[in-house]
Amino acid sequence: MKLFLVLFFISLSDFISGQSITGKVIVGSTEKSGSFVSIQLLDHFNKQIVDKTYTDSEGNFKFEKVRVLSLDLKLTSIEYGDTLFQNIFFSDDTTLLLDIYKPCKYDQSGKNKGCPACHKKDQVIPILYGLIVPPQGKEKKFWSRVDVEFKLGGCSITRCDPHWYCKRDKINF
Ligand SMILES: [Zn+2]
Repeated sequence: MKLFLVLFFISLSDFISGQSITGKVIVGSTEKSGSFVSIQLLDHFNKQIVDKTYTDSEGNFKFEKVRVLSLDLKLTSIEYGDTLFQNIFFSDDTTLLLDIYKPCKYDQSGKNKGCPACHKKDQVIPILYGLIVPPQGKEKKFWSRVDVEFKLGGCSITRCDPHWYCKRDKINF
């Protein structure tokens, strides 16, 4: 009973002074660091925001004097959107490794030009992104090649965009 009380007071004093949570945000198994990711620390039970911070250029972050026993971490990255890590318990200073990688359905087609519908390559053209300005004096020739030799994908570029267009099936992949 005595031991129990001692342990109880130790853990209670830890809880009152708060604990530190350090961690690193990574992107996939390559351990590319998730730099400048916003992190919100929420109380798991009432969903209130307890604290917030950003990762540094190496993906590291630190929260100090955390007095919540079960928390959620909401990570927001420009590239990968929101990732929620829920119901993390800790009873001592904790270091977390958080992976925000999300697979892209176009990852495979980057290297494979074969159309997923007709399984052929003869009508497949690349999709070009960005503001593409034709060379001066060759505007007419340039525009005649659009949708024949290549397709324009526009200036809205995410980390998950199709690489190819099949003219036969009119699909991006
Ligand atoms: Zn096709």
